[in-house]
Amino acid sequence: MKSILTLLIGFFILFSCNNVKNSTSDVIKNVEFSEKTDATFGIVIHGGAGTILKKYMTDSLENAFHSKLKEAITTGHSILEKGGSSLEAITATINIMEDSPLFNAGKGAVFTHEETNEMDASIMDGATLNAGAVAGVKRIKNPINLALSVMNDSPHVLLSGAGAEEFAREQDFKMTDPSYFYTEKRFQSLQKVKKKELEKETAQVSFEDPFIKDSKFGTVGCVALDKNGNLAAGTSTGGMTNKRWNRIGDAPIIGAGTYANNATCAVSSTGWGEYFIRAMVAHDISAMMEYKRITLQEAAHEVIQNKVPALGGDGGIVAIDKNGNIAMEFNTPGMFRAHMNAEGDLIIKIYKDE
Ligand code: ASP
Repeated sequence: MKSILTLLIGFFILFSCNNVKNSTSDVIKNVEFSEKTDATFGIVIHGGAGTILKKYMTDSLENAFHSKLKEAITTGHSILEKGGSSLEAITATINIMEDSPLFNAGKGAVFTHEETNEMDASIMDGATLNAGAVAGVKRIKNPINLALSVMNDSPHVLLSGAGAEEFAREQDFKMTDPSYFYTEKRFQSLQKVKKKELEKETAQVSFEDPFIKDSKFGTVGCVALDKNGNLAAGTSTGGMTNKRWNRIGDAPIIGAGTYANNATCAVSSTGWGEYFIRAMVAHDISAMMEYKRITLQEAAHEVIQNKVPALGGDGGIVAIDKNGNIAMEFNTPGMFRAHMNAEGDLIIKIYKDE
């Protein structure tokens, strides 16, 4: 009798284990929309979203943006083409935009209220869900490289301020003099914003003054799919002009400014950081693909055109899924953006209706 009972219990355990196994593999199957069969790859970048209108742009500035976006994306593309990893591609691509004064990241970072430059960056590996980020760093030429080092060389995900720089020193990063980040254009923007702020306090302009609203845009970001099917995302920014109290935006927040998951997609955000944090933009796009089984474009549209504006925020994202489908979605008049696929087709756009 006892042995029959043991046998029955044994069968029961075996049966339930099988069920657990089945249900786990079902969950995994559910996030597989289609198998990636060939070695397709692709890369998408942004250089910030905002009130970017043709009437505010000169031909030479437009050309300068076009050629820098082209230089950045072709650099990442050739790494992917040679079989390099998506992490290598996005880091090299972002470095080019960080080194350009055209963008609000690295050289060209906007000024804080105290007339300093405090930079944020993050990176995520879709293969392992590993991530690294830094916030409020002042002496790191390429903050995305430090974010990568936090991911690879520390047990942490997000380091900030003086501690992040101490870690950088230990990792043999060169300390850059803060004067490197000075650009006259960004300094003058701060002076204008401060003046507007004073006028706002005396109720001379409305809270919705577009100049004040847009003084926060210009971040850079990159997402890529490599030949091994690995996705990665990275974002780097100076944050918003006139920020104070060590304000940290969405760019170094994994799930808000940056997210990558090989089962779904890789996303990099740009826009009004406070809203992107509250809406958990990058992760929400991935989660909607996973749970609702909708496409990347549908998920990106829902988050950027409905969820973020419903809170009062604006901005955009670039994203790529595990099959190489891309999204460049924004709810502002413009977003600096570019895409290159495995065939080498290159798209570079600035304004909404292009
Ligand atoms: N999201 C960035 C921040 O809020 C700004 C931007 O993307 O332009 O810090």
